[in-house]
Amino acid sequence: MTGSSHLITLDNGFKILLDCGLFQGSYKEDLVSNNEFLFNAAEIDCVVLSHAHIDHSGRLPKLVKEGFRGPIHSTHATRSLCTIMLLDAAFIQEKDAEYFNKKNAVKHSQEGVTLREALYTSQDVDATMKLFIGYGYDQWHSIHPDVKVMYSDAGHILGSASVLLEIKENGKVTRIGFTGDIGRPHRPILRDPQPMMECDYLICESTYGDKVHESQPNEMERFLKVIKKTCIENRGKLIIPAFSVGRTQEIVYMLDQASTANRLPPIKVYVDSPLAVNATSVYGSHPECYDNELNKYLLIDQNPFGFNSLTYIREVEQSKALNTSHEPCIIIASSGMMNAGRVKHHLYNNIEDPRCTFLIVGYCTPETPGGKLRNGAAGLKIFNEYKQVRAQVEVMDSFSAHGDRDEMYSFINNQKKNLKKLFLVHGEYDTQQSWKSFLGENGFGQVEIPAKGSSTKIMG
Ligand SMILES: [Zn+2]
Repeated sequence: MTGSSHLITLDNGFKILLDCGLFQGSYKEDLVSNNEFLFNAAEIDCVVLSHAHIDHSGRLPKLVKEGFRGPIHSTHATRSLCTIMLLDAAFIQEKDAEYFNKKNAVKHSQEGVTLREALYTSQDVDATMKLFIGYGYDQWHSIHPDVKVMYSDAGHILGSASVLLEIKENGKVTRIGFTGDIGRPHRPILRDPQPMMECDYLICESTYGDKVHESQPNEMERFLKVIKKTCIENRGKLIIPAFSVGRTQEIVYMLDQASTANRLPPIKVYVDSPLAVNATSVYGSHPECYDNELNKYLLIDQNPFGFNSLTYIREVEQSKALNTSHEPCIIIASSGMMNAGRVKHHLYNNIEDPRCTFLIVGYCTPETPGGKLRNGAAGLKIFNEYKQVRAQVEVMDSFSAHGDRDEMYSFINNQKKNLKKLFLVHGEYDTQQSWKSFLGENGFGQVEIPAKGSSTKIMG
């Protein structure tokens, strides 16, 4: 599911790595998968990156640490987002190793347990960022005398792209497409996913290949109703666990629109995550990625991510102060699944308070606190303490940044006629099977689900 990465080797030996993502599954498996590349990092000639999410970009500093020195091609906004996201990832890697080594110091000296080295550090991130080259959308860029690349907007997160490679080899031209993560049409801030030009071979993601999202046209009305009930009627806190990049900005933008329209009750709103604060300023500095609606909105409000009652919180002390305050407010904090980050403290402090509401706006794996709340758990263990669920729990799924089965199908539909083969990647195996049968029933002949580490010979 995670750790997106595909290697293309030309007949002349030139090696292009599509994405270099971090595995984010169970802890032990992660350590092994993230530590070992299935290729020699120093032999890779260049990286072509689809977008900044860590499961697509998070092993780039490790690649550089292992000897990669080539260029990393991406869109301008992806490059900007990677600066903050990879530094944040390095910080987590360093803290994880430090925690493990402290915990195992005695075992290390008595039983010889091996201490852990951080997967990479902020110095590796510095070296990685120097290799980035940023590009705009919808133009061919030459990355090798025989290879051109074109990015088209994938509408998934800021700067996200589908990638088309045009490779000249032995007098023939082959087009290889990589969807990256496919976004959704009609979402705020970003443009709708733009269809890719026709290609010979397509590598396609599978995240929601077996799911159709519920349509919820009255998103804003429902959101305002939850705010009113929690903060005005119940005088409680509305806590929204959200990923720092993408989801947080969508929510802030919605609140900004409500504020401009004088529909937001007079309550404080906090974005409590240093990464979200940084990501929001990157969103603010890449208007070239905005859709028409946001461009129009800018004519009446120059800052779509800031309004009077909104405070961005970086400092831990300020975040802690929210725990002791009894003032009704809205708190947006990461992570979206409530298994890490500052939202865990808000969960600990408010889950037993019936005046408060937890508004879950994204997918959560079942074993995480977010997943348990979604499934109606009566209690949760947080920081080794059992807490009863007395707060209200609301779910709004329409915020997903991933296209569902039908949206992905309409995105790749134009490829049906001339495609030689479709490779399905980036999804749970069962989902991929179901996605494959759906595509087979709808006119895609050659569909393959490659196993991790497998390779295929492509003839131009
Ligand atoms: Zn993504």
